Amino acid sequence: MTQPYQKYICRTCGLIYDEEEGDLDSGLAPGTRFADIPDDWYCPLCLVSKDDFVLIDDTKKITSSDQPKRKASNKADVLIIGSGYAGWQAAEAIRHLDPGAVISLLTADDGTVYPKPALSMALSQNRTPDDLPESSANNKATELDIGVKTRTKVMSINTQRKKVTTTTGSFSYSKLVLATGAKAVLPKIAGDASHEIITINDLAAYKKFYKLLQDKPKVTLIGGGLIATELAEDLHSFGIEVDMIVRGAHLMSQIMPEAISRKLTDKLLSRGINLIFNSEVIEMNTNSDGAYILKTDQGETFESGLVLAAIGLSPNIALANKAKLTTNLGICINGFCQTSDSDVYAIGDCAETDGVVQSYLEPIRRQVKVLASHIMGDTSNQFHVIPTLIKTKTPSLAIMLSPPLKATHGRWELSLQVGDNHRLYYNNGEDVTGFALSGDLVSSANALYKATYKL
Ligand SMILES: Cc1cc2nc3c(=O)[nH]c(=O)nc-3n(C[C@H](O)[C@H](O)[C@H](O)COP(=O)(O)OP(=O)(O)OC[C@H]3O[C@@H](n4cnc5c(N)ncnc54)[C@H](O)[C@@H]3O)c2cc1C
Repeated sequence: MTQPYQKYICRTCGLIYDEEEGDLDSGLAPGTRFADIPDDWYCPLCLVSKDDFVLIDDTKKITSSDQPKRKASNKADVLIIGSGYAGWQAAEAIRHLDPGAVISLLTADDGTVYPKPALSMALSQNRTPDDLPESSANNKATELDIGVKTRTKVMSINTQRKKVTTTTGSFSYSKLVLATGAKAVLPKIAGDASHEIITINDLAAYKKFYKLLQDKPKVTLIGGGLIATELAEDLHSFGIEVDMIVRGAHLMSQIMPEAISRKLTDKLLSRGINLIFNSEVIEMNTNSDGAYILKTDQGETFESGLVLAAIGLSPNIALANKAKLTTNLGICINGFCQTSDSDVYAIGDCAETDGVVQSYLEPIRRQVKVLASHIMGDTSNQFHVIPTLIKTKTPSLAIMLSPPLKATHGRWELSLQVGDNHRLYYNNGEDVTGFALSGDLVSSANALYKATYKL
């Protein structure tokens, strides 16, 4: 008898591999069994290997048993602040290299381990916020044999005394890792309801949003970047009417060439997503029925049940500033992920290298490897900023991008266009510093990525 098809989930980003559907973008035909996928296959969304996928039912088992409480040591060899992807990955990498190190992790939230990229595709995956956690903080800490303290905000760092002060006491360290992430930027909007704008950059915010969504037939999205666009498609797939108000002239203008953006726009419009370009929301009020009324700088008004802003992230640098560490857009780090204090490291969405903050999973994975080996005294590896490879979660058009790190010099040039299939290079003089693919051409993204950056 033929085995029923099964679904596997990427524990890093939440992408689901459905054996029945395969993954045409990476050349896997419908019906390809997970076991038959070649070992060098990588997750098309976050680029981890096949080993990071688990059978969907197994993820439930991870959260089911609660372990005895893991206390954070007040005197850690390595103290990590933050329980996002960067914080937990750092703990894992350090533990892997040093089974005996005393590692403690402090976090302002509840420390739940979950794949953040799933927040902009969970609705179309038919997953509720309760389906997203992979592990509780305590279970993850037990697995890694580390201490953890949740709901604990670090208020200050004394780099001289190697001590942090938190809302629940003081902790000392030999090495400190800042993995404090970023916060969602709120648009500056007038009106009596502007404080009710929702942003999504963590599971707790997503839970709140999901609850509010239940009785709202219509959502207004402010923003036209990657996450706003993904959320628009995801909401639409859930049967929600979407107005998307975009300040620029096209979608994802900072990372995507206009030719692909126009194609995507056509697809979204034909699906019924209402896109309004070159417009900025300037005021948000509530009417007598409790609905929100949004006014734009173009004089238009929009009525909505829920307003979601996705206009960018701002690295959390306040703690580093207070400790007089060097910051710019993010916390400045060198090739070993050290800040201006050599015993304090920074990684993830809060960190900046060579003037660049990369808010993606793949650079974090490279950072934690370097960080962990450097803490162990190995100086042979360094973290370098290279353009990352992004698969957009836009089911209406397959897109893979490797945007240039700084899109100030050079320009996008079309190399191929047939129907939905586009290939563009970002050319800076003789150098190719980025590329963008759409349609069937996305299957060549990984090879092109390796060839372009000589990896
Ligand atoms: C909707 C969405 C979709 C995405 N999709 C993708 C994708 O498809 N592919 C991809 O590569 N990337 C994607 N990303 C980006 C990726 O998820 C992030 O780059 C990554 O998760 C950041 O991890 P982090 O640990 O640096 O930060 P965070 O996850 O923000 O974690 C920061 C942690 O620090 C803690 N913290 C902050 N300040 C303090 C303090 N003072 N004291 C104690 N704790 C503190 C917070 O509580 C939190 O636990 C997406 C992001 C979003 C929001």
